[in-house]
Amino acid sequence: MNFEVSDKMKTIIGMIGEFVDKELIPMEQDFLSKPLKSLISEIERKRELVKQMELWAPNHPKEYGGMGLDLVEHALVSEALGRSPLGHFVFGCQAPDAGNIEILNMFGTKEQKEKYLRPLIEGRIRSCFSMTEVDMPGSNPVMMDTTAVKEGKDYVINGQKWYTSSADGAEFAIVMAVTNPEAPPYLRASMIIVPTNTPGFNLVRNISVMGHAGEGYFSHGEILYQSCRVPQTNLLGPEGHGFVIAQERLGPGRIHHCMRWIGICNRVFDLMCSRALNRIISEGKTLATKQIVQSWIAESAAEIQAARLMVLHAAWMIEKVGANAARKEISLIKFMVAGVMQKVIDRALQVHGGLGMTDDTIISFFYRHERAARIYDGADEVHKISVAKRILKEYEGKRIK
Ligand SMILES: Cc1cc2nc3c(=O)[nH]c(=O)nc-3n(C[C@H](O)[C@H](O)[C@H](O)COP(=O)(O)OP(=O)(O)OC[C@H]3O[C@@H](n4cnc5c(N)ncnc54)[C@H](O)[C@@H]3O)c2cc1C
Repeated sequence: MNFEVSDKMKTIIGMIGEFVDKELIPMEQDFLSKPLKSLISEIERKRELVKQMELWAPNHPKEYGGMGLDLVEHALVSEALGRSPLGHFVFGCQAPDAGNIEILNMFGTKEQKEKYLRPLIEGRIRSCFSMTEVDMPGSNPVMMDTTAVKEGKDYVINGQKWYTSSADGAEFAIVMAVTNPEAPPYLRASMIIVPTNTPGFNLVRNISVMGHAGEGYFSHGEILYQSCRVPQTNLLGPEGHGFVIAQERLGPGRIHHCMRWIGICNRVFDLMCSRALNRIISEGKTLATKQIVQSWIAESAAEIQAARLMVLHAAWMIEKVGANAARKEISLIKFMVAGVMQKVIDRALQVHGGLGMTDDTIISFFYRHERAARIYDGADEVHKISVAKRILKEYEGKRIK
């Protein structure tokens, strides 16, 4: 067992950490209080700096201008970037584009790669992923109403989706739609690339989430597909293989998210400790002298460390044996890390008192936005059931004494 981080990665993480501290964290007050539009040129300038430092698109293939880091290496990068909500976007490895890039790279045709993958990796365009539906359970997406029916050389798509994150301003969506209704449930749907300027692609609204509708990259769209017609050449991978491809997207994606959440834990943990040491609560005494705060600090440190090692182990497993064989580890980290993050953010907010509720620190942003971590990419309960079933299978036919 080797826990050592290579010299190459130490250098990269050091550079990223410094960039996040010096260039991104100072932008956060504006990010929290001003329209995103007013910050776009500044964000683009930061992205250019990242490209000049040759740290752009750390997890994406070298042939398209990325750094080609492996999953464990990118996990460390994701942790460093997660300290700021701007981190992943400024370094060109943000969801949902990262997942779309992976599947376009694995399943795209030569033409699709040139038209969609290359500009996406280069950061010239953005994309979105459109699977979840308003009236159907996202936890069981084989129940899907959206259809793509063949007409001549086209698919005609009809359906209502929501939580199509970052649809506002995206160049194209990868849409899940039923193409083979008579096939077994997991072979009914396909992924289809739909440019957002196609007639019939209607962004109805950016959904208001916890009081904020957001805009641009930081938003979640509701989309009405109304006789939306695209050529059949826009099919991604084989017809009926939408869920097979979706599985490919989720394994590494969960590592990226979980390590981003560890980065968030680290950031709010730092804020919690600093506040505890500096907030005088009675004559000559700070919050840090209170046992209950000490207990939160110790518990948070232990939980963050445990969660971090679990994610790195799961990333290492995916590298060694593939995402399919590492399904148990992937499910374990998904609910475990989301829960740890929620607890640590909550404690940090509590230590800050009224200040924690304001937008004068980043804590309340994380509190609002990251609650969703227990829902997207598989709700807690779905992962717990799946892990428990796997574990119980190992005990079948055995009597333990
Ligand atoms: C911030 C955010 C961003 C998102 N981004 C995207 C995106 O870009 N693209 C996209 O397509 N979708 C996206 N989603 C949607 C997300 O994938 C779904 O919300 C998720 O799959 C859950 O589906 P649902 O909301 O329909 O909840 P449901 O399926 O209705 O489930 C509701 C609740 O029921 C419980 N539950 C579900 N199944 C079981 C079970 N078997 N046993 C016990 N309890 C169960 C869980 O507690 C779950 O939270 C996003 C969601 C959020 C919140």
